[in-house]
Amino acid sequence: MRVLCPGCGSVAIIGKTNRLSLAHADLYCSCSDPECGHTFVTNLSFSHTLSPSSRTSSAIVSELARALSPVQRQQLQQELNLL
Ligand SMILES: [Zn+2]
Repeated sequence: MRVLCPGCGSVAIIGKTNRLSLAHADLYCSCSDPECGHTFVTNLSFSHTLSPSSRTSSAIVSELARALSPVQRQQLQQELNLL
């Protein structure tokens, strides 16, 4: 990922990343142009999902399966065996 200096448009160097959460980080940057010398903080943040995480989907399926009664679980198992 390239960060451009908002002052002059040159490539900036990310010196430090302050991760605030899994979805947000502050990037401490400095412009690579010595004549500019701009240092600044820019944000990196999650926007939206295009395809859900299979880890999340698996966890949801496991939780749902655990919530079923033994009979329902057995029925589900038989249905899955047909796939
Ligand atoms: Zn600059």
